[in-house]
Amino acid sequence: MTAPDAAPGPAPTPESDAAPRPESDSLEVIRKFAETYAQRTGTYFCSDPGVTAVVLEGLARHKDELGGALCPCRHYEDKQAEVAQAFWNCPCVPMRERKECHCMLFLTEDNPFRGEQQTISLEEVRALTAG
Ligand code: SF4
Repeated sequence: MTAPDAAPGPAPTPESDAAPRPESDSLEVIRKFAETYAQRTGTYFCSDPGVTAVVLEGLARHKDELGGALCPCRHYEDKQAEVAQAFWNCPCVPMRERKECHCMLFLTEDNPFRGEQQTISLEEVRALTAG
């Protein structure tokens, strides 16, 4: 049985510009997870939706490449080992324990960079990460 906090699936990072775009299915799974998780934790997406889109795409890419939604905002020596360790699988331990998301995907109400949204469409993510 999957833990309720676990993002569906494991995979690689946003620094890899040359990496293939994530599969639509993975992006949609991650997008829905992020919307549900934001609503459940009372957090909000960034006022700049481009930030949200890039992080979601990075998570989906990791899910495709590694089989797990490893945080895309960090550098890893061994991504597969990190996925297995699970500390930085989204939602990571700092987020689950203290609502600390250094990617600015999930922002608490008092964060000056937070927007009003807890939703983002697949079309918007695609448009903001195109090119
Ligand atoms: Fe997810 Fe944590 Fe990365 Fe935020 S910092 S995107 S909660 S893994």
